[in-house]
Amino acid sequence: MDTHVVVVGLGTSGSMALWQLAKRGVKAIGVEQFGVGHSRGSYAGDSRLFRSTVHEGTRYVPLLQRARQLWRELEAETGRHLYDECGALQIGQAGSGSLANSLACAEKYGLPYELLDADALRARYPQHRVDDDDAAVLDVHAGSLYPEASVFAAVEAAKSHGAQVVTNTEVLDFDEEGGRLKLVTSGEPIICDKVVVATGSWTMRLRPDLRGYLHVLPFALTWFMPHHPELFTPDRFPVFIRDSDGVHLYGTPTHDSYSVKVASDPQWAAIADPDEIPVFERTELRRIGAWAAKYLPDLNPEPVRHSMHHDLCAPGDFPIIDLDEDSGMVLLTAFSGRGFKFAPVYGELAADLITGERNDLYDPGFALSGHDR
Ligand SMILES: Cc1cc2nc3c(=O)[nH]c(=O)nc-3n(C[C@H](O)[C@H](O)[C@H](O)COP(=O)(O)OP(=O)(O)OC[C@H]3O[C@@H](n4cnc5c(N)ncnc54)[C@H](O)[C@@H]3O)c2cc1C
Repeated sequence: MDTHVVVVGLGTSGSMALWQLAKRGVKAIGVEQFGVGHSRGSYAGDSRLFRSTVHEGTRYVPLLQRARQLWRELEAETGRHLYDECGALQIGQAGSGSLANSLACAEKYGLPYELLDADALRARYPQHRVDDDDAAVLDVHAGSLYPEASVFAAVEAAKSHGAQVVTNTEVLDFDEEGGRLKLVTSGEPIICDKVVVATGSWTMRLRPDLRGYLHVLPFALTWFMPHHPELFTPDRFPVFIRDSDGVHLYGTPTHDSYSVKVASDPQWAAIADPDEIPVFERTELRRIGAWAAKYLPDLNPEPVRHSMHHDLCAPGDFPIIDLDEDSGMVLLTAFSGRGFKFAPVYGELAADLITGERNDLYDPGFALSGHDR
């Protein structure tokens, strides 16, 4: 096979990069070690939070505004429902730093939001336990994304613009042939000029030089059954993030009429490879169940479903979107447990690096040279 660009990995970011490249008419092939929309990627697990105001800081807001447009474009192009804009509640102690950061984002960029004190929060969202010193920021341009459907839709859109897709084929190594790149795969070799490596937690198999700098973290998900499911539908229950008494919880509304996702922070040590994800111990399940029922009293504390996932993380949680001019390789990886909402704009930035287009949203800190290694 011969093409101009190969995208290795058709998960969250690779599917979006392929869509963006194909839309510009670039001759591209996407290669995926499993099938399209499989259950082992960092995108698995039914839903992902989208927020416009982020407590991590204002630098991300323009990227999120562009991502929100692109999510809507992907929906329009494919006719698929990928995003419920049900809002996001960030709950914490009134005056806390994380609430202040979200407010700063909203005010700086004129984003729609509401500030709710404890009484307003209790009245409007009785699903949450509210203490007198609690407050919340309701981010209006926020909600719940459907990750498996999104990856599937981006690949479908890429194909409709002419991209080729090769599945159940692992890229094993990179070589050179006649001044061009040769991808050694578990199937046929592929010759190309440029490559986007979007291999998520598997990246160190292809780039062992990044071991020691990047690490794979396990992330767990849990779902609980409410006594009153009608309280947890997207029209009544925004996605939420809560920091109370040292407990971090986040969750999404019910999408299946019987379960609500409520999850906590990673409590697991870094692993060397996604094949090593740990077992979800009963003690952990009970601990998260106790928190879920404490802060959302309508929930039964027994998780009705749980699953373990992984994501590739970088120190400082800054992503890597990096072009190596000499080899023609764009690295698109290390989203540190927060990359899903950005996926279409990160795909766009990768496509711009490939085609040489300037994009003012590109932060030089995304380059490997901008990372403090
Ligand atoms: C449990 C959990 C909850 C999260 N919640 C949120 C959230 O609410 N909001 C948010 O914004 N983000 C969230 N994230 C983060 C987000 O989901 C990830 O950052 C993102 O999915 C990572 O995308 P990726 O493209 O790097 O990896 P992936 O989506 O895993 O894609 C990598 C792909 O590359 C393929 N691949 C790997 N190696 C090869 C190879 N050699 N050859 C061919 N194919 C290969 C893999 O099979 C896979 O399909 C969460 C993550 C987890 C795990």
